Amino acid sequence: MSIFANVLQQLKAATQVSKVPASIVEQLQRPERTLTFTLPVVMDNGSVRTFEAYRVQYSSARGPYKGGLRYHPQTNLDEVKSLAFWMAVKCAVVGIPLGGGKGGITVDPKSLSRGELERLTRAFARELVPFIGPDKDVPAPDVNTTPEVMAWVMDEYEKVVGYKAPGVVTGKPLALGGSQGRTPATAQGALYVLSELVQKLRLKPKQITVAVQGMGNVGGIMAQLLHQAGYQVVAMSDSAGGVYNPKGLDVPAVEQFKKQSGSLKGFPGGKQVSNAKLLELPVTVLIPAALENQITGKNAGRIKAKVVFEMANGPTTPEADAKLARRKIIVVPDVLANAGGVTVSYFELVQNLQQYYWSEGEVMAKLKPIMVTAFKQVWQRAEQLKVPLRTAAFVIALERIAQAIEARGEY
Ligand code: GLU
Repeated sequence: MSIFANVLQQLKAATQVSKVPASIVEQLQRPERTLTFTLPVVMDNGSVRTFEAYRVQYSSARGPYKGGLRYHPQTNLDEVKSLAFWMAVKCAVVGIPLGGGKGGITVDPKSLSRGELERLTRAFARELVPFIGPDKDVPAPDVNTTPEVMAWVMDEYEKVVGYKAPGVVTGKPLALGGSQGRTPATAQGALYVLSELVQKLRLKPKQITVAVQGMGNVGGIMAQLLHQAGYQVVAMSDSAGGVYNPKGLDVPAVEQFKKQSGSLKGFPGGKQVSNAKLLELPVTVLIPAALENQITGKNAGRIKAKVVFEMANGPTTPEADAKLARRKIIVVPDVLANAGGVTVSYFELVQNLQQYYWSEGEVMAKLKPIMVTAFKQVWQRAEQLKVPLRTAAFVIALERIAQAIEARGEY
């Protein structure tokens, strides 16, 4: 199944209700630039393995390309292209002056030693050097890439170009110019958005049950923040499966258990649940925070949540979107719900360029109004156009991208 085919359907839904000129929509159906790389890497046993890597620079109308690097065995060009498009939309939805890009390597990083991972990353970074830079294209973490991976990319880049350029990547370790608050930023930004929605629905956090799929930097931290804020997190899962307790999970205990045993198998405070079943639990809010294509035409009819809050990129297919809309299930789209991450990435870039650093309090004080405003604008536009939140977000983004393209003048 092509994810990019889904992207084009989402784009079509938005163009049908927006006044953006057809010539601009046509441009946005293709990335500006598509790069593929072949990376030979010396493995620990002396053999050489060749990996395939990608960077898609989708749109630079509103600023330098921005978006993460994903390391995953199923990563391919179609996925990276889709993710790059969503980055362009996301940056426009929150109104930060950046374009959209994404990169990745087809690899299972869990099968590599630390040394192999570092050599692979440095090989990728060397290939990326001519194409990235603080004013050009700024990678960041995504699935299976960490601040440490960003440090290797930055270090390799600086060695090749011969000067310091911390703004070449975001999501770096603090010691190398990372921003305070970048790690929890996606979850924190999402919580600001969810709080706005909860007020609209006239609910209180303690009345709300939540199932979270994914325990990485996004889902794991979101579950913790929700728990602290008084929401009832009833289900959590990692890639191997999850746990469910209708009375509420002790989130710190789940985290602790996973840290110690490596998985959720045998967690005593809840019963085991598969990832597929987790999606269909009777909860108020379902948070897919792992990979794309989780809610599809097949299972959308069985979703019992009142709200699907997308913290993964692309977890709901257009077919599922249509079914959920018919059933009046609210879908808060990825390009809004998880935009806190790239927003603090933008703050990190600003700090790097200014060589002047902010406290975590300053970062969060700047993040909140951006997320709240974006939510209100999307909500209002959805009501006005009588369309789902995703289409409204896309309409806003399309208008902003189109404005930037038009303001540049004739070609
Ligand atoms: N990977 C994150 C996303 O999908 C963050 C990207 C960034 O900070 O550039 O939004």
